[in-house]
Order: sequence, then structure tokens, then C-alpha cells
Amino acid sequence: HLNPPYVGRFAPSPTGPLHAGSLVAALASYLDARAHHGRWLVRIEDIDEGRSVPGAAEAILALLERLGMRADGEVVWQSRRKHLYQAAAERIAHHTYPCGCNRREIADSRLGFAPDGAAIYPGTCRHGLPQGRAMRSLRLRVPEPGYDVVGFSDRFAGDVSQRLAAESGDFVLKRADGFWAYQLAVVVDDAEQGVTDVVRGADLLDSTPRQIFLQRVLGVPTPRYLHVPVVRNADGEKLSKQTGALALTPGDEAGAVEALLQAARFLQLELELGPGQPASLAAFWDAALPAWRRLLASRPGAALA
Ligand code: GLU
Repeated sequence: HLNPPYVGRFAPSPTGPLHAGSLVAALASYLDARAHHGRWLVRIEDIDEGRSVPGAAEAILALLERLGMRADGEVVWQSRRKHLYQAAAERIAHHTYPCGCNRREIADSRLGFAPDGAAIYPGTCRHGLPQGRAMRSLRLRVPEPGYDVVGFSDRFAGDVSQRLAAESGDFVLKRADGFWAYQLAVVVDDAEQGVTDVVRGADLLDSTPRQIFLQRVLGVPTPRYLHVPVVRNADGEKLSKQTGALALTPGDEAGAVEALLQAARFLQLELELGPGQPASLAAFWDAALPAWRRLLASRPGAALA
């Protein structure tokens, strides 16, 4: 009944094994796709080859399988899709420019930092590389202040808006180390895969306005967004893949159910279960789907899309 039909995705970066935090994002995106009778895709975001850990992607895929989350369709790997990012960057070349600045120079301009920690770019190379400077990165021009507000309505977080000029500045599409930037790869892939619904951790809420702007420049549709809270450790830090990795041994169904229950509790899913339930993965999934529907119904703006 949705037009176009729902397509969701889980897009882990293989920088380590799946941990409790990434399982929350996986579970939410999976349940939302199932609740919409949609498709659920898995994409390995190994575009930052410096941070990818050999074997981590395979371990993540095996774990998802063990938990009962099966991707609809083939898993795609960003490291094998560079031609798509290259073609997209070429298509919008008139919105981009080569930048010769290094990190230090950008930080020295003291405009502060975007929420994701990237220093706000002062626009030094906007009108051409300064004499004697070589290109380091490729940047996308954002609109002038006053024309730069990008807003959207998140299905969980509500209304979000950002002034791109002040809060990000012209941002990087291709990095100084030669790798395509996450922002470009994620937008190109979501569009190319026909993703209608992005469900992911709230640590990416601040990246969403940049991604929406990039979608507009590329002339591709903007998906709906739902950002779930991020799991933090006792010190309030976001879990990293080094801490809290999920270790499940094959055949340990009770362990798999426990990991899912923990993620479900974090999402405040209210599973209707009998005593001693769920004893099996099948029983977990049977209870989790209606619980996700009830959770959506209870949140203003989060209703089934
Ligand atoms: N690869 C990103 C991560 O693991 C998620 C990207 C996304 O869902 O848009 O944090």
C-alpha cells in the first residue's frame, strides 16, 4: 500500500564485531521494515578502508543470520561501488571544488566544529586553490547563510533543522586520503538501492541535513528518517566496537535471545510474553513485531509511515 514500497536497510561499518549499540540499530531497522511488509537490505560500509577490520564484515553478517535477521537481496559492499561515487561526484562537479587546506589550517580558523567533530570549513578554497597549493580533498559548496537551512521531520526525534553554512560549512565528498566520504557514499547508495526509510542511531541525526542537501543537489529522493537513541556506557560514552562486542557461539539460542531482549529493552519495546518466555528466537520475533507497532503508535510523529 506504500508507494513506492518500503525499502529499509542496515548499514554497519566493519570496524569491529557487532556490539550492543549496533544491534539496537539493526533490530529497529529490521522491525520497521517487517512492520511495513517491506524489504530489509544490508550494506557493508567499508568505504573507509583504513578503519575496516579484516573479517569484521563476515562476523557481523554471520551474527545477524544467527539472530534471525535475514537480508532481502544481496549484501552490497561500498568498497566495490567506488565507480558509483565517482560518477555521482562528476555529475555534480559544478557544485564542488578542490580544496588544498589541511586539518590544522581549518582548525586555526576557529569557526568551531560540526556536531560530528569535523572542523567547520571557512571557505578558503571556494574560489580556487591558492597559488602553489595542491588539491587535498573535494568539497561540496553549501548555500549562503540565510538560504542554508535544511529541516526534516524525524519519525522519532521530531523536527530537526540545521543551518549548513554555520554548522557545517562546505563539506568533504572525497577525502585527502583518497577515500570517498561517508556522506557521499551513504546518499548515493540509499538512492541507488531505492531506500525509502532510513532507521539508524541518533549519532547520525546531525549528518542528516547534509545528506538531505546532497540528495537535492544530486536530484534524488529524500527517504523518511527514524533515529533511535544511542546506547552509551556508564560514563555516557557511545559504545565502540572495541567495548561491548557481542560474542555468540553458534547454536547458543538462549544467548541470541538474551542479546535481542537487551536491545529490545533499550528500545523500550514492551513484549507481551508468558513466564519464562521467549524460549526461542521464533518466540522473540513473534512478540517483537507487534511491540514495535505499539511503540510507533505511542509516539507522536512516529506512526507507521
Ligand atoms: N555505517 C554507519 C555506522 O555504522 C551507519 C550509516 C547509516 O546508517 O547511515 O555508523
